[in-house]
Amino acid sequence: MFNFKKKFGQNFLSDKNLLKAIVSDAEITANDVVLEIGAGAGALTKEISLVAKKVIAYEIDTDLKDILESLDLKNVEFVFSDFMNVNLKDFEKEIDSFKVVANLPYYITTPIIFKLLEESEKLESLTIMVQKEVAERIVAKEGGKDYGILTLMINFFGEAKIDRIVKRQMFNPMPNVDSAVVTIKIDRKKYKEIDKEKFSKFIRASFSMRRKTLLNNLSSILPKTELKEKLTENILSRRAETFSIDEFIGIYKMLF
Ligand code: SAM
Repeated sequence: MFNFKKKFGQNFLSDKNLLKAIVSDAEITANDVVLEIGAGAGALTKEISLVAKKVIAYEIDTDLKDILESLDLKNVEFVFSDFMNVNLKDFEKEIDSFKVVANLPYYITTPIIFKLLEESEKLESLTIMVQKEVAERIVAKEGGKDYGILTLMINFFGEAKIDRIVKRQMFNPMPNVDSAVVTIKIDRKKYKEIDKEKFSKFIRASFSMRRKTLLNNLSSILPKTELKEKLTENILSRRAETFSIDEFIGIYKMLF
């Protein structure tokens, strides 16, 4: 008998209709290589394997090894290690492109999203189950409390939408909150002239203290005199959460 481990964020799915719907949200075809993070007992892995060319599924918990290998899925490679330690450049070497489909462990949802966005060169899309509150941050509009670094970095790399809300009762064991399936389509051409690492530092600095003005926050990366030379008082006195992604791109170009 398998004992669920809370520390690994193990909340498994089993409803076939829901699993099929997630795979359909991801628009997987027979040419696709799919990366799954957190295979669990393999319920989602199995549904993906029915439509994809190949699935590479990471699972940190070696207690799941026998269960997963006994599924005998021919086009699936299980890797039993911590996804956060994977070198994505090595992972991508033999692959032209790939899609992510996953019911993510909630305790590292945002680190996994940032790792994929920032390190991968070949990721096409992510279709991921996340806590509803994270989904709301992903698709937030400027001005609100949910709008922040996560929203902006996802908009920098592509476009996101909520596919469906999933009630907590669909998981075993049942978590304390509802979830949502979100699809993020990557568009590498969108802001290709902008250095992604530098832009990420600039956004993180802009939001370092939410209630402070852009002038105060950006003074951690540029001298105030330079900021005042390059940007108007009208921009500098606003808070980061009031700027859209395109406005941030404009400000970045004025500064760097
Ligand atoms: N895909 C399964 C499903 O939908 O039923 C399981 C999803 S469960 C929410 C998340 C899974 O991620 C768990 O099986 C957990 O052990 C695994 N996991 C947690 N941290 C991980 C990590 N750092 N690397 C790889 N897998 C991890």
